[in-house]
Amino acid sequence: MKSIEVNGRAYSWVKQPTVVVCVDGCEYDYLTEAVKAGVAPFIGALLQSGKAFKGDCVVPTFTNPNNLSIVTGVPPKVHGICGNFFYDRDADAEVMMNDAKYLRAETILARFSQAGAKVAVVTAKDKLRKLLGHGVVNGICFSSEKADQCTIAENGIDKVLDFVGLPLPSVYSADLSEFVFAAGVKLMQTVRPDLMYLSTTDYIQHKYPPGTDGANKFYAMMDRYLSELDKLGAVIGVTADHGMNAKTKPDGSPNVIYLQDHLDSWLGASKARVILPITDPYVVHHGALGSFATIYVDASLRAEVSTKLKATPGIEQVLTNSEAAEQFELPPDRIGDLVIVSEKNVVLGTSAAKHDLSGLDAPLRSHGGVSEQTIPLLFNRTVNATTTRRLRNFDVMDLVLNQTH
Ligand SMILES: [Zn+2]
Repeated sequence: MKSIEVNGRAYSWVKQPTVVVCVDGCEYDYLTEAVKAGVAPFIGALLQSGKAFKGDCVVPTFTNPNNLSIVTGVPPKVHGICGNFFYDRDADAEVMMNDAKYLRAETILARFSQAGAKVAVVTAKDKLRKLLGHGVVNGICFSSEKADQCTIAENGIDKVLDFVGLPLPSVYSADLSEFVFAAGVKLMQTVRPDLMYLSTTDYIQHKYPPGTDGANKFYAMMDRYLSELDKLGAVIGVTADHGMNAKTKPDGSPNVIYLQDHLDSWLGASKARVILPITDPYVVHHGALGSFATIYVDASLRAEVSTKLKATPGIEQVLTNSEAAEQFELPPDRIGDLVIVSEKNVVLGTSAAKHDLSGLDAPLRSHGGVSEQTIPLLFNRTVNATTTRRLRNFDVMDLVLNQTH
């Protein structure tokens, strides 16, 4: 049977329409709690029948590195995307990493489309569209955020609001994700893509813990659409880009270590540069606070900074560039001299003055650290034995194309 090799892994040619879903911020408990509440019967059936697994995502447990790992089948050291945001040493500038020029590997989606498969990509936020759709030929690729602006030339489809039958959703809403699922079902009913990738947004997961009404409503919605895709004959693989945890003190206020403020008081102003790779244009629901940060600092000061940070309560790991590159499989040229991971209920900031937390209308929940690494892998087909291997979210394409029957 024909197979396609991408980034050193072989993928069997699609036998039936195949859908891979990345549910943003999907801590495993969201699934079990929604099932327990009786609102997600389709997911419940998958959980019960041995078609659900726990795996690990990529650290930093952020959206872009993990979405790109899922569609390339490899970790960031190969594809190059290790954050939403980074400090480009060559350009001496802090820049968004959402341009395809930063991508160092081809995607499985692109390679399948180039070999003649019908490929569709629907993302919630537009920030991911260009990276995920890079290299896809004759395919459909759009975001719910800009669904009103699609053209045949740019997106392979137009009049998307009419096609999906929903109004343009707000970028801060559960509707942004529902639009992705609704579009996926519509595409399956009409175009019937051979390979489709759906990627949602974690607006709900940042706001509502597992088992709450707000969360269960989201998973009930997702359950309905997954069940529809299943009825339409699609092979489905569901995973997540990262988990999600409360990042609050006992009084409910955000539990933040402001790294730049610490460094400035230890070393003097501007001797070190803190970069938060969670930073993106959509910070209202997390204030750009996550559990992973990287520091650029002169070699002569690194040992002192490292010692002091290791002694700071709430810090879980302080790694050198090469230690972090090895442990988390990251491209060393795109991370700082030190990599800092905070504990489960702690986030890292730059300076207190630089974080606008006024938009937080619920106790802070976020991600980025090792504590958000466990993610679900869920299939609507039986998967060949995988118990001996450490499953990663970026194995989902391999599992869904090669290992289901
Ligand atoms: Zn995410």
